[in-house]
Amino acid sequence: MNKIVIAIDGYSGCGKSSTAKAVAKKLGYTYIDSGAMYRSATLHFLDHSVDIHNPQEVNAHLDQLNIRFKINPDTGYQETYLNDRNVEQDIRNMRVSNYVSEVSTIKAVREALVAQQQELGKEKGVVMDGRDIGTVVFPKAELKVFMTANLEVRALRRQKELEEKGQIVVLEDIIKNLADRDQTDSNRKESPLMKAEDAVEIDTSNLKFEEQVDKIVQVAQEVLGKIK
Ligand code: C5P
Repeated sequence: MNKIVIAIDGYSGCGKSSTAKAVAKKLGYTYIDSGAMYRSATLHFLDHSVDIHNPQEVNAHLDQLNIRFKINPDTGYQETYLNDRNVEQDIRNMRVSNYVSEVSTIKAVREALVAQQQELGKEKGVVMDGRDIGTVVFPKAELKVFMTANLEVRALRRQKELEEKGQIVVLEDIIKNLADRDQTDSNRKESPLMKAEDAVEIDTSNLKFEEQVDKIVQVAQEVLGKIK
């Protein structure tokens, strides 16, 4: 059976990751969280006090990055490993969230991670979410989705997610982080966040989680129907 690449891009905190994960599960596809890769690079740079304005230092550390995804057999959830260390929790904290967009503006970082993402998706049958998946990583993806949602709705969802993981963060800090990241991601020189011309736009502000998942699965099935 034919398999396709599904590229999901959009603003921070729109629920891209959880939606992409659920879509992948329904289709029996592999889910790849490209944001986790940028977060892992950021964590590595923070832990090693890398001066991100020094290209030689950045390049030397990029060579040391081995990012993998593994399913936790107990929970069934995919987790991120950086150089064989489980960093799933550490990459989601505010320290990384507040620095990741700056790290993601660096051309060498993007080139290294985009090459890995393209390798991971070359057999198709993947759902990858991020900011430049439909525009740069897989410009020929058979299905491109661009997700948006109102900022306050996004912040409330993110606050709940963090709370469930035991992290209490005030709403204003989350709103500021999401707005700052949107701003940096949309205005950077290298692969700015933008909707691909041929992307299907989905505003999730008033959608239930299942509704947004079903909508993407339905469009994916239509695309698959056409290429069979
Ligand atoms: O998806 P997530 O919010 O975890 O991504 C964290 C950050 O990584 C984004 O705010 C963005 O700066 C960067 N990113 C990116 N390109 C991607 C995925 C994430 O620049 N494809």
